[in-house]
Amino acid sequence: MMEIIATLTHKYIMHGCGWNLHLSHHKKHTNKLELNDIYAIFFSFIAIILIYLGIVGKLILELIGIGITTYGILYFIFHDGIVHQRWTIHYTPNKGYLKRIYIAHLMHHTTNKKEGCISFGFIYAPPILKLKQKLIKINEYKINEDVAKENKDASVD
Ligand SMILES: [Zn+2]
Ligand SMILES: [Zn+2]
Repeated sequence: MMEIIATLTHKYIMHGCGWNLHLSHHKKHTNKLELNDIYAIFFSFIAIILIYLGIVGKLILELIGIGITTYGILYFIFHDGIVHQRWTIHYTPNKGYLKRIYIAHLMHHTTNKKEGCISFGFIYAPPILKLKQKLIKINEYKINEDVAKENKDASVD
């Protein structure tokens, strides 16, 4: 459930109207912090508020808050720690499920643009071969679109 929400948020908000903040995560840099971290802070606040509301009344809100927190912790360990090596511990998964989601996220970072990205989720990833085909397809399509646009522009002159 959290994965679905996270995927949609990443795809339609972070790679949509919120791209200005998320862009910092798709650029190479040596800073300790990224503007993109604001999302993590924002989601932590939401989780805290939900857990608080749960404690004073609605249990369901508390459960949602705990869900967000758990996802956040997993994301922090795997995404920030292992994939992006933001900590001092370096570990590269070399088999199974961890390797698959690791590569899937690296593939998300193969383009540094708002469009043309794949694998917006995190704890679920389809087989790598499928992702590769999708990435090629999306970018081929984009390239064709660009060529068509260029041809159109050229024909105007
Ligand atoms: Zn992204
Ligand atoms: Zn990332």
